Amino acid sequence: MLTTGPRGTRDILPDSSGYWQYVEQVIRQVCRNFAYQEIRTPVFEHTELFLRGIGETTDIVEKEMYTFNDRGKRSITLRPENTAAVVRSYLEHKLYAGPQPVKLFYIGPMFRYDRPQAGRYRQFHQFGIEALGAKGPAIDAEIISLAVDFLNRLGLSDLRLLINSVGCPECRPVYRTKLQDFFREKLPHLCPDCQSRYDRNPMRILDCKNENCAEHSQGAPHMAECLCDECNSHFSGLKDLLTAAGINFELNPRLVRGLDYYTKTAFEIQYAPLGAQSAVCGGGRYDGLVAECGGQPTPGIGFAVGIERVLLALEKQALLPVLTNSIDAFIAPLAEATQAKAFEIVTELRKAGFTADMDFMNRSLKAQMKYANKYPARFVVLIGEDELRQNKVMLKNMETGNQELIDKTSLIHMITEGMEK
Ligand code: AMP
Repeated sequence: MLTTGPRGTRDILPDSSGYWQYVEQVIRQVCRNFAYQEIRTPVFEHTELFLRGIGETTDIVEKEMYTFNDRGKRSITLRPENTAAVVRSYLEHKLYAGPQPVKLFYIGPMFRYDRPQAGRYRQFHQFGIEALGAKGPAIDAEIISLAVDFLNRLGLSDLRLLINSVGCPECRPVYRTKLQDFFREKLPHLCPDCQSRYDRNPMRILDCKNENCAEHSQGAPHMAECLCDECNSHFSGLKDLLTAAGINFELNPRLVRGLDYYTKTAFEIQYAPLGAQSAVCGGGRYDGLVAECGGQPTPGIGFAVGIERVLLALEKQALLPVLTNSIDAFIAPLAEATQAKAFEIVTELRKAGFTADMDFMNRSLKAQMKYANKYPARFVVLIGEDELRQNKVMLKNMETGNQELIDKTSLIHMITEGMEK
């Protein structure tokens, strides 16, 4: 127990943290480009927020939340997603009073008691976007193009963008009734989850992962047949904008959410080579959510990308960057008596802006050189007792193999010159 982390969690070790930094850097660049600003909210919130903000009939709330009472007997939940928390923060800090729309992004860990497998973890990380305050289809097109652009910048191709409209509280009740009519006779053949969804949230039957349910939902009526004029024109507007921007998409009537505050656009981006966990990004419009959380009715749209899945995709396509741990200089004290001098030099070099390290293990010269090569280090600064006495150091250029006895005072100058060559 003490030497194994909880099931579904993973350590990001030094040999791969550079991949995370790379992906995060691309996220920051693309968000800057599209003028989205970062928001950082806590990893835990009042449970009530997620009950309201995600919906009590969803799998997340019913089965997957990490919920506990804190010592003050308040019910707390580790965030399973971040949209509800961003909306809470938007209301708490009156971001609606500033320039509109409010365009935000976040990066951080999420927690779901899910069945762990490749690409599915209990602590995982999402990069997400939320745009609050704009209701037309242009912002939908913007965030979809941001997601596509992000994945393209990483070099990922073979992506499938699926879109649908889930309507609004005006037109959805008609669809709901149509769906219930369609499933009424099939009900005994559906899984227990879908049987309970039939009354509470029948649209969710359409995205059930159970093969049998998927078969029984073949031929189910499509939301598109029931959209009201406003939802219809929003959806056509989005399709036109995506087409004009050269973004390929497929219509997928099975992409649903089904709760009242999810409205109009729903989309997903899949990367097929990931197999069962092929969804790298999921998003949609939530025009009813801000009001559900206690604010004035405010339109909103967002998405979340699973960073672990993006990294898996990059690995599959051999698109991960080559990581280097190279340093400018390694300081090698050749006797215990020269350690203090080595420390003085490494401090000076770091202050001058170089990446530098020194030996802390009292290793032999050979072992220190081997260690310096592993980085690799561009220069090694050797200090023996003779050098110490003369206030000199031996500077070895690891690329050329040349070494030179120099005054300690000219070390920074010599390394700077050497680095420029
Ligand atoms: P969702 O918040 O469920 O719409 O998920 C958005 C994205 O987060 C998905 O497309 C996945 O890429 C990722 N994701 C969701 N759940 C997990 C999980 N348990 N482990 C890893 N990634 C996940």
